[in-house]
Amino acid sequence: MENKSVFEMILSGEIDSDIIYEDEQIFAIHDINPVAKVHILIIPKKKIPTINDMSESDINLIGSMFMCAKNLAKEFDIDQTGYRLLFNTNADAMQTVFHIHLHLIGGEKLKNI
Ligand code: 5GP
Repeated sequence: MENKSVFEMILSGEIDSDIIYEDEQIFAIHDINPVAKVHILIIPKKKIPTINDMSESDINLIGSMFMCAKNLAKEFDIDQTGYRLLFNTNADAMQTVFHIHLHLIGGEKLKNI
């Protein structure tokens, strides 16, 4: 059987993490190693290893992840000051967890990319 991702283990409770948002399709947690004052991960319950594995049938799911990010940005009061949303994909982007997740990063002035 394929190994569970760390995010599947968080969802099942095998790894401890506060789930700050959850619905039928997605959940969100604070990143364990934040790169800014606010660093949240928005994660689909369905494991899609990378954005390369996304299919047409995932379009609504990915859209819901962005809607969740928008709502969390407001909840954490960074919607007006600004934030960054990103998916890392594979080695050159330093993806480390092969279960897609949308990074929501803000709460301070971010460096240019
Ligand atoms: P990636 O580099 O794959 O885009 O991002 C994976 C992210 O997951 C990293 O920012 C890393 O800090 C975070 N992460 C890895 N393991 C855990 C964990 O057990 N708990 C939480 N909350 N975040 C984790």
